[in-house]
Amino acid sequence: MEWEIKALKVQCIIEECDWKGAISDIEAHVMACPYRMVNCSLGCGEKICYREMEAHLSDCPKRIVSCQYCKYEGPHDFITNSAHLDKCYDYPVKCCNEGCEFIQERFWFKYHEQNCPKAIVYCEYSNLGCNKLIKREEQEKHNEESMKDHLQVAVKRVDTL
Ligand SMILES: [Zn+2]
Ligand SMILES: [Zn+2]
Ligand SMILES: [Zn+2]
Ligand SMILES: [Zn+2]
Ligand SMILES: [Zn+2]
Repeated sequence: MEWEIKALKVQCIIEECDWKGAISDIEAHVMACPYRMVNCSLGCGEKICYREMEAHLSDCPKRIVSCQYCKYEGPHDFITNSAHLDKCYDYPVKCCNEGCEFIQERFWFKYHEQNCPKAIVYCEYSNLGCNKLIKREEQEKHNEESMKDHLQVAVKRVDTL
């Protein structure tokens, strides 16, 4: 009787799978069935059909890639996310000052930021009391136009000393 049960033909429990075999083999098959669902081996948390694992691994958010800018290696979801890009030294940063089209890697960009001709800055005579805000590139023009004002504020300043 027992050998009869053992020899009974059964089908894999997964519908897509057309495996048929003895009931005594089903346990081993289920463990190795190409259609079984397994956890992503990179730990992204997804359950994937074993047959599709390879395709998933090349597209998994946890696959290791290198940053296209700085070449730093890490999981795709980190490297391509602001978590990295906001700090990436080689990420091209565009100047946000109006009229300035300057773009440079973040590491060097700070030098531009300090010297951008389009930046709105206080007049270089602000310490003398001129509180005009001007574009950095217009300082010279402003000086010419405001020579009197600058002299006046300078004089007033001297007066109050
Ligand atoms: Zn199967
Ligand atoms: Zn994955
Ligand atoms: Zn980077
Ligand atoms: Zn700029
Ligand atoms: Zn001024």
